[in-house]
Amino acid sequence: MHKYVYLFKEGNADMRELLGGKGANLAEMTNIGLPVPQGFTITTEACTQYYEDGREINDEIQGQINEYIGKMEEITGKKFGDKENPLLVSVRSGARASMPGMMDTILNLGLNEDVVEVIAEKSGNPRWAWDCYRRFIQMYSDVVMEVGKKYFEELIDKMKAKKGVKQDVELTADDLKELASQFKKEYKKKIGKEFPSDPKEQLMGAIKAVFRSWDNPRANVYRRDNDIPYSWGTAVNVQSMAFGNMGDDCGTGVAFTRDPATGEKGLFGEFLTNAQGEDVVAGVRTPMKIAEMEQKFPEAFKQFQDVCKTLEEHYRDMQDMEFTVEHGQLYMLQTRNGKRTAQAALKIACDLVDEGMRTEEEAVAMIDPRNLDTLLHPQFDAKALKEAEPIGKGLGASPGAACGQIVFSAEDAEEWAGKGKKVVLVRLETSPEDITGMKAAQGILTVRGGMTSHAAVVARGMGSCCVSGCGDIKMNEAKKEFTLAGITFHEGDTISIDGTTGCIYEGIIPTVDAAIVGEFGRVMAWADKFRTLKVRTNADTPRDAKKAHELGAEGIGLCRTEHMFFEEDRIAAFREMICSDTVEEREKALDKILPYQQSDFEALYEALEGDSVVVRYLDPPLHEFVPTEEADIAALAKTQGKTVEQIKAIIDSLHEFNPMMGHRGLRLAVTYPEIAKMQTRAVIRAAIKVNKEEGWKIVPEIMIPLSCDSKELKFVKDIVVKVADEEIKAANAKLEYKVGTMIEIPRAALTADEIAAQADFFCFGTNDLTQMTFGFSRDDSGKFLSAYYKEKIFEQDPFARLDQTGVGKLMKMAITLGKPVNKDLHFGICGEHGGDPSSIEFCNAIGLDYVSCSPFRVPIARLAAAQAAIKAKNNK
Ligand code: PEP
Ligand code: MG
Repeated sequence: MHKYVYLFKEGNADMRELLGGKGANLAEMTNIGLPVPQGFTITTEACTQYYEDGREINDEIQGQINEYIGKMEEITGKKFGDKENPLLVSVRSGARASMPGMMDTILNLGLNEDVVEVIAEKSGNPRWAWDCYRRFIQMYSDVVMEVGKKYFEELIDKMKAKKGVKQDVELTADDLKELASQFKKEYKKKIGKEFPSDPKEQLMGAIKAVFRSWDNPRANVYRRDNDIPYSWGTAVNVQSMAFGNMGDDCGTGVAFTRDPATGEKGLFGEFLTNAQGEDVVAGVRTPMKIAEMEQKFPEAFKQFQDVCKTLEEHYRDMQDMEFTVEHGQLYMLQTRNGKRTAQAALKIACDLVDEGMRTEEEAVAMIDPRNLDTLLHPQFDAKALKEAEPIGKGLGASPGAACGQIVFSAEDAEEWAGKGKKVVLVRLETSPEDITGMKAAQGILTVRGGMTSHAAVVARGMGSCCVSGCGDIKMNEAKKEFTLAGITFHEGDTISIDGTTGCIYEGIIPTVDAAIVGEFGRVMAWADKFRTLKVRTNADTPRDAKKAHELGAEGIGLCRTEHMFFEEDRIAAFREMICSDTVEEREKALDKILPYQQSDFEALYEALEGDSVVVRYLDPPLHEFVPTEEADIAALAKTQGKTVEQIKAIIDSLHEFNPMMGHRGLRLAVTYPEIAKMQTRAVIRAAIKVNKEEGWKIVPEIMIPLSCDSKELKFVKDIVVKVADEEIKAANAKLEYKVGTMIEIPRAALTADEIAAQADFFCFGTNDLTQMTFGFSRDDSGKFLSAYYKEKIFEQDPFARLDQTGVGKLMKMAITLGKPVNKDLHFGICGEHGGDPSSIEFCNAIGLDYVSCSPFRVPIARLAAAQAAIKAKNNK
């Protein structure tokens, strides 16, 4: 027989997968002899089984639960429904990873008309008894039967009005008794049946409700945001009640052993006398600071302090605890490693090392890398944010906080920002042309696009806040207005967006500047000691490159050269190149661009102070660069000596039905080798010049995008090598350089042995590789992925978190096929996954040499790479 239920005394802290975090810790606290009201845990496997059985608790599990009720009755000396000594329990969820507030809880279970009379009499406190009963009916109706809280709250409000009182605590026993009866009537009205009086029936309903709550919408969203698989399920803890609401010598509290906001050592928390747990959380009454508990409950407080010390030393981490004091006696209801801000996480990790509780390696392993994001971007003032109500939600595409006046075009963003105004750029979607406007804006909000859409990638690169893909926005760009949540916003109206959560707010929420605290550098230095994976950055401006270098990047892993062509002084020449009819015309235009390109590369080399720079050759389809405004078209016609119609005809001819699979990547170099030649001249000349001036030994790495065939790559590589060697010879210089390719098309991975013969390195462009492997457009998949999440087909956006099963298999294949052919081949990743911790762990495992990510993700990648190395070492 499979065991689905464990007494607290049968478990321990290592059984988290089976018992959930709460269950494992209740067991551990029981083992160390702390005062824990006893009970049992129904395992996460029972939850999984419940879903497999079509959302039913099968007979075997029900049988075990009933058996354990018996055991619990023996341990506590109380009995369900007993007239002498009735057992009352709490029923709480508890997943493997803590998901605070995401699932359901039911308290005071076991009460019925008879039991309430017994406890009223035995306690001599009928008010308390009836308060428990009315709470239970309310909670059970809401959580188990999904009746909804509001009907009960209305009845309470009516009762308070009738009695002329303001607070719940002012209601008398008779009032509460009357309320309980009204609640039961309400229940019958809504459900069509009497409120269940059999405690076992109540318990089965409550357990089912907790299992069901694993699949509620907020839990699903929380799991997706926190990389928690749906398959884990939740455990259920059935625990004997301790009562904090039996009078003024009772109470309940929540406390941390260190401040979760700052990490400062010391008890931090709140306590409420004569109350039950949910009162603290719901904020019905204002609780007192935990330190004040000392005066009211000196003994319990002293005992609690000892427990805190024991628990912190036992878990060697900051604890977040829930407890109850019943007639002066302390009961521990829960402990867990507390959630904390990034700042607190760093301070606590350093302090634990200094206090001798943790090693540097353990300190590095205990910080969630994703948290660091918040330290690197401006943030909303926490208090103001708490008070604000979001009016919509998109994807949190690039973290940070932004607020300002709404503008609808990149030009307006630039113009308004030039006048000193703070603006948020709101667009249907952005295109590379918008880049300067995006830079000028505080943040970017788009209606379309996913995590790897242009807006998202560019914003992350710039460290600007971006919320993308808010499909609820009804946009009218022509009228410069949009509607969201029934509010119509015009140009100049104010808005705030949160690039971490994706939330959108009306008006301005004040922001505070991000500060990198002292511990940050210390933890990063430790991380660097442990990691073996190098961390580079995706950057194409000296400003971004410098920033990334400051944040610890060890080179550029991807310079998207196309971004350089959009600068004002070169877009005209670039358009001339596109609209040329002959090679000569094209070369003439490219000659104008060459000095700009060269100086761009020089600046990048300088910013990286001699570290490697991977220059990726022109990649996007050319139509992205052509002018759309009549005036620009006319100007281009004039410089080209062509008519407006001729230019328009060229532009039309560039139209493609499927541009992402069209004339782009190295296909451009196959058709227009002169573009690759110009870029090679610029890369090589810049390297020779900077090496000479600085005395460095830069080895430029030329990266050819989107190859799918070795002959195709050889064709382009031969051009590059010929030009590069000519340049080196002409300069009479010595320069080593590398030519590699991006692996972005499944065929490239499948034929990696042939491709390896032509390449010095492979860099996985997992944005395109994901797009081409799934056949999902990276710009449009947001539209249907939500349906995939809802149906549990997918739990994650494959563009944000690497699909290890499919895309990862192709990556492994490319490495396995490529390495034997070319022993010096090195491997990197420069898709957006290069900054995602779980993807980084995979990259470490399959033996990549580096990950490359946007500048503001560099510290996250450094930490994640260290954690991956530590985990790999410890799992050996
Ligand atoms: C990629 O495809 O992963 C990549 C890095 O290139 P881009 O995003 O520029 O297509
Ligand atoms: Mg690509």
